[in-house]
Amino acid sequence: MIKPLVAGNWKMNGTSQSVQEIKALDEKARAANAAEKCDILICPPSTLLVAFSHILKDSPIKLGGQDCHANATGAHTGDISAEMLADSGADYVIVGHSERRMDHKERDCDVKAKAEAGWRAGLKVILCVGELIGERSADLTLKVIERQLKNSLPEGATADNLIIAYEPVWAIGTGLTPTVSDVAEVHDFMRKTLIDLLGDQIGGNMKLLYGGSVKPGNAKELMAASNVNGALVGGASLKADDFAGIIAAYE
Ligand code: PEP
Repeated sequence: MIKPLVAGNWKMNGTSQSVQEIKALDEKARAANAAEKCDILICPPSTLLVAFSHILKDSPIKLGGQDCHANATGAHTGDISAEMLADSGADYVIVGHSERRMDHKERDCDVKAKAEAGWRAGLKVILCVGELIGERSADLTLKVIERQLKNSLPEGATADNLIIAYEPVWAIGTGLTPTVSDVAEVHDFMRKTLIDLLGDQIGGNMKLLYGGSVKPGNAKELMAASNVNGALVGGASLKADDFAGIIAAYE
C-alpha cells in the first residue's frame, strides 16, 4: 500500500502575509486527521521556508523547495543549494518542473544533477516529467516520458527518496486536464518503466503524482486513476480552503 502525497507548489507567490494561510491549512489538516491518510507538503518560495518551518514545527505538513542548484556552495548568484533548503526546514525538493525546464533551459542531465544534490542534502526529491501539447498531438507522450525518466533518473533511487510527478505541460495553470484514462495510461506506463529500470521493490512502490489543474472539484476522480499516488498542485495550493479540498479526496 503506497501512502499518497498531496504536494503544493506555490511557485513565485507568497509574502510574510501568507503565514495566515499556512496556519489555516495546518488547522484544517489537523481537524480532518488528514495526515493519517496522506502525506502533505507545501513548497513555498525559499524566502518563506524559515518562517513556515517555525509555524509547522509540530505539524504533519512538511516543507519543500521548488528547485536547487547542483552544487552545495559557490559563485552562483541568485541560486540556492539543496543544503540551504535543508537548513531552512525543507524535507523535499522539486526538480525538473516544466517552468524550470522552459524558463531556465534545464535539460534532463541538469535535472539528474539536481536530484543527486537533493539526496546529498538528505532531501526527498520530486522529479517532474511531462509532454508539451505538440508532443501529445503527435502521439509522442509515452516516448517523451520514457526519455525524461531514463535520462534524468540518478543512480540510487529508492521508493523513499524519489517521487515522480507526471505533469502534462499543457495542463499546468490552464484549467485543462487530461481524461482520467489518459492519466491512467501514462501512470501505468511510468510504473512499468520504473519497474523495468529499478526492479519490483523500488519501481513498484515509488509514489507517482499527477499534476496539472488539480482542483477540489476534480481531485477525487484524478486521484482514483490507476497508479496515481497523489497530486502536485500549483494554483489551488495557495488557498488553504482549496488545498484542504484536494486533500479531502483521500478522506
Ligand atoms: C504545477 O505547476 O506544478 C501545477 C500543477 O500547477 P497548476 O495546479 O496550477 O496547474
